[in-house]
Amino acid sequence: MSRYAYVNGRYLPFRDAKVHIEDRGYQFADAVYEVCEVRQGRLVDERRHMARLSRSLAELRIAMPMSARTLGIVLREVVAKNRIGYGLVYLQISRGVARRDLAFPQQVSPTVVVTARSLNQTRNGALAAKGIAVVSVPDNRWGRVDIKTVGLLPNVLARQTAIDRGARDAWFVDKDGIVTEAASANAWIVTPDGKLVTRHADHAILPGITRAVTLDVIKTLGLTVEERGFQLEEAYAAREAFETSATQIVMPVVRIDGHVIGDGKPGPVATALRREFHRYAEVG
Ligand code: PLP
Repeated sequence: MSRYAYVNGRYLPFRDAKVHIEDRGYQFADAVYEVCEVRQGRLVDERRHMARLSRSLAELRIAMPMSARTLGIVLREVVAKNRIGYGLVYLQISRGVARRDLAFPQQVSPTVVVTARSLNQTRNGALAAKGIAVVSVPDNRWGRVDIKTVGLLPNVLARQTAIDRGARDAWFVDKDGIVTEAASANAWIVTPDGKLVTRHADHAILPGITRAVTLDVIKTLGLTVEERGFQLEEAYAAREAFETSATQIVMPVVRIDGHVIGDGKPGPVATALRREFHRYAEVG
C-alpha cells in the first residue's frame, strides 16, 4: 500500500514528502511533536495531545500554525488516506525554514508534517503478555524534557544501549539516583504493599498522556498512587513494574538490570490497567 504524508498544506505520496535542508527542525531540533494512538481508525486522547502540543509550542515561542480543530481534520485525513485501523499518527511542527542562525528568524512559517503507520496489535499483545526487560542508564538530557521536542539524541542512545544489552528499553536515572522515566515512556512500580509509584511531573519528565489517563484509571479502581521519585533499589524490590506510552499503553516490565521483578511475569495491577485503559481514554 502506498503511504501518504501531509507536508505544509499538501497530502503527498511518501516519496515526494520532503522538507527543506535548512528546516530548523533538521538543523537545531527546533521542533516539537506528538504521537497519538489510533484504534479502529479513530484518534485516542486527541484533546489531551493537542493541549500538550499547544504547551510545547508556547514554551518554544512557536505559533500554533492552525487551530486544534483544523489540525484534528488533517490528522484524521492522514489516518484515512493510509487506511490505519490500529497504529499511530505522528505530527511534527518546526519553527520553519531560514538561513542557519541560532536566533529566531523573522517572519518564518512553521513546517507542519503528519505521517501515520500501522502497528501490529497481535505482536504488541504478545509482548505485553510476556513483559519486557529494561536497563538503567544515566539521565544526561537537558533540563526541559517536559517539552516534547524532537531533540531525542540521549533517548536514541539510551534505547540502543538497551538493545545492545539484550533489553527492550532503558530507564533514565538522574544524578540523585532517582528513576525519571523510560526512553520513550513513563516508568512505574508497584511497591510490596501494593502502592503505585511514578515520578512526579515537573521539568524532568515528559508528562505522558498515557500516564495521565492511567492515573485516572488507578483512582477509579480505588488503588493508591504516589507521585514521587523512586530509586533503582526500590524498583528491583518492587512487586511489579511497567511503563506507559501512547503506542504501548501499559507495558509490563519483568526485568530491570537483570533483576527479576516479582515472579518474573506481568503482574495483576499492570494487567488490569492495560485491560481497563481504553474505557477511560477519549476516542474521537
Ligand atoms: N516520556 C518520554 C521521554 C516519551 O518520549 C514519551 C512518549 O513518546 C512518554 C514519556 C509517554 O508519553 P505519552 O504517554 O504521551 O505517549
